Amino acid sequence: MSVSQQQPPHQKPPHQRTLGIIGGMSWESTQSYYRLINQGIKENLGGLHSADLLIHSVDFARVSELQAQGAWDEMGMMMADSGTRLQAAGSQGLLIATNTMHKVVDKVQAATGLPIIHIADVTAQAINKQGLKTVALLGTQFTMTEDFYKQRLINAGLQVLVPDTSAQQEIHRIINEELCLGQFQDSSRQYYVEVIKQLAEQGAEGVILGCTEIGLLISQDDSPIPVFDTTAIHAAAAVEFLVGES
Ligand code: GLU
Repeated sequence: MSVSQQQPPHQKPPHQRTLGIIGGMSWESTQSYYRLINQGIKENLGGLHSADLLIHSVDFARVSELQAQGAWDEMGMMMADSGTRLQAAGSQGLLIATNTMHKVVDKVQAATGLPIIHIADVTAQAINKQGLKTVALLGTQFTMTEDFYKQRLINAGLQVLVPDTSAQQEIHRIINEELCLGQFQDSSRQYYVEVIKQLAEQGAEGVILGCTEIGLLISQDDSPIPVFDTTAIHAAAAVEFLVGES
C-alpha cells in the first residue's frame, strides 16, 4: 500500500463506535474502566484490537468539595462541560464513570443530546437477568438515600435495601477517605462484609456495589450473596456500545 492509500491516522476503527468517558471520580476506578473495557474489546474483536475511547478526567478534589457543599447545579455544569468537550472531540455516546454523579445525568443529556449509558439501568438489567428481586445497595450517601439512583432500580422492578444511617455514614466515609485515595484496608473490608451479611439477613438476595471503587475492596469471594459490581457491569455495557450491539 502506498503512503497515499493508507488510512489517515485519525480515521476511526472500522468495527467500533467512539465512546467518551467522563472520568476521574475517582481516577482509581477510571483505571478499572479503562482496563475492563479494553479487555472486553479484545475478547470481542480479538488480536490487537483495543477500545476507541476518549477520556476526560476531572479533578476529583473539586467534585468532592462541591458534593460536600451540595452544589449540584455547579456539578451539573461541570459534567455538562465535560460531556460537551468529549462530543466535540468525536464521542458518539457517553459514560459517566461513577454512580454518584448520575445525579446530574440530565444536565449532560441536555447539553449533548448523546446516548448516555446509565449505570443504574444497566445494573438493574444485570440483576433482572439473574432473576433476583430484592437487592442491597451500597454506595455514597447520595446514592444510597436519594431517588435519582434508587428509583431507577425500583422502576425496573427491584426492591432495594440500604444500611441504617450510621452504617451509611461509615460506608460513605470509607469511600471518600480511603477507597478514592487508593487505600484498601482489611478492617474496612470486614466492615463492608458485616453490613452485607446484615442486609442478607434482612432479605437481600444480592448486593449492588454501587460505588465504582467498592469493587477494588470487595469481591464475590468476600460476600455471602451475589455481588453486582457496577464498574464491571457498566464497562461491559460500554463494550456493547462500542461494538454496536446496543
Ligand atoms: N466513585 C463513586 C461512585 O461511584 C463516587 C465517589 C464520590 O463521588 O464520592 O459513586
